[in-house]
Amino acid sequence: MINSEIVSEFENIVGPEFVSDKPEETYLYHYDFVTAEPEGVCDAVIMPNTAEEVQEIVKIANKNKIPVVPWVSGINFGSTATPLKGGIVVDLRRLNRIIEVNEDDMYVLIEGGVTWADLQGYLGKYHPNLMAGITFSPPGTGVVASCLCYGMFNLGMLGGTGAEFINGLEVVLGSGDLVKVGSCSLSNYWYGRQPLPDLAGLFIGWEGSTGIVTKAAIKLWPRLPFRKDFVLMGKTFEIGIPVLLKLSKTGLGICDIFVFSYSWIQAGLGGNEKKLPLDPIKANIPDFVGVVTTQAYTEKQHEAQCEAIEIIYKEGGLMEPPGGLEDFLIYPLQAWGAWNFSRGGGGEWIGSYCSTRDIVKYYDLAKEIAFKHGHTPQFYSRLLFGGHYCVSRFNINFNKNDTEEIESARKVLKEIHEEVSSIDGVVMYKAPKWAHEKYEEKIFPATNELMKKIKNLLDPNKIMNPGHGWGD
Ligand SMILES: Cc1cc2nc3c(=O)[nH]c(=O)nc-3n(C[C@H](O)[C@H](O)[C@H](O)COP(=O)(O)OP(=O)(O)OC[C@H]3O[C@@H](n4cnc5c(N)ncnc54)[C@H](O)[C@@H]3O)c2cc1C
Repeated sequence: MINSEIVSEFENIVGPEFVSDKPEETYLYHYDFVTAEPEGVCDAVIMPNTAEEVQEIVKIANKNKIPVVPWVSGINFGSTATPLKGGIVVDLRRLNRIIEVNEDDMYVLIEGGVTWADLQGYLGKYHPNLMAGITFSPPGTGVVASCLCYGMFNLGMLGGTGAEFINGLEVVLGSGDLVKVGSCSLSNYWYGRQPLPDLAGLFIGWEGSTGIVTKAAIKLWPRLPFRKDFVLMGKTFEIGIPVLLKLSKTGLGICDIFVFSYSWIQAGLGGNEKKLPLDPIKANIPDFVGVVTTQAYTEKQHEAQCEAIEIIYKEGGLMEPPGGLEDFLIYPLQAWGAWNFSRGGGGEWIGSYCSTRDIVKYYDLAKEIAFKHGHTPQFYSRLLFGGHYCVSRFNINFNKNDTEEIESARKVLKEIHEEVSSIDGVVMYKAPKWAHEKYEEKIFPATNELMKKIKNLLDPNKIMNPGHGWGD
């Protein structure tokens, strides 16, 4: 599909040092961080430096009907940046410029390959009064990629999913045309998607299958001087979740609420090897851990917010760990991406958006399946946008050197997905191919047809990330 002439054409655009079809380098782009064996391979990788270069690359791909996969770090868990049908991977990491911070309208304009490390470092140095919502993902993962695939950030209570943090986009379509959506299409400001027809949705949730985002404006938020992270423990999710839901509806300067199960700690400490009990309830260990973050402008305001939070969680039967946050290991756990760092480092999850009513049900159904197969049930949920909805995720850890464990983890995750899908409103995000195929069968038929038409319009030769996204 890709011959030396085409490789030369790419080299003429970006320079020979930024194109490779060497197997020892292309391997990195179809190697799947998660577990799935790659279906297709990356035939060549190209690293453009400008939006114009991205356009030129897509035009050549169109002419030769070569699949194009946008890529930043490829560790999104749904394997959505794995080339299923071969072709080229467009590694966006040279598009790493932070173009502008607008302090008044609180947004940052960045290029499509900016990583969390780039953004955090820049803001910390030049705009310490503003903060971006961030994920628990490794610093080298992509900011724009995260927003486009509905990532959830530590300011989710303020802003919702990463998609809602997007103010505007510049995109190279699958056709090779370059478009702008949002206020930036009519002015020099990137303050929002209102009041024009909201075309950002043509690129959000499509897993790079409609175009390559070369620039995006992302909302920032004020960093207030007073802040506290409450760690709240409770015996069960039945006790803890109603308290968090109540807190989500109180205001109280709360910018983040999330919950995780005891098993994260168990996995982080070595899981079964250390003979920690699989089922915390039976061992009388608190299973529920909630984290609530509040911030305030003045000390007095902060004290009042904290006092109200304390009243609510105590009334609901929760407590703070006696040793405080530092003793609780959550930062080391999350910072190392510690799905299972002491025994083989493997972890894979499935995640869904769902109604806040169903968090406990989701956890209970998934937990039983994990127990049945002898896995630690690592659950995590985040309340979003002032408590309007939530994301719920379930992780299974495994030893990357143990093929049986890997197989078992894959099987369990699929089984969990089947089971939680019985709950109305549970919709998986960053859906891997197998889950996506099921959604195509289930979704309202006219909606599916509409998505096919949109895909045809934006990507007439179906070269963009084929096999992923909608409308193939
Ligand atoms: C340990 C760990 C913890 C994590 N925790 C969280 C978390 O708390 N919250 C969260 O939201 N996520 C989390 N993630 C997921 C992580 O943030 C994702 O990997 C990230 O959202 C996407 O970045 P990426 O560099 O991996 O993107 P990639 O995998 O490279 O791309 C993701 C998708 O977007 C497409 N794409 C990429 N860039 C563009 C572009 N410019 N234009 C169009 N399409 C594009 C790709 O084709 C692909 O379909 C975690 C991941 C790990 C490994």
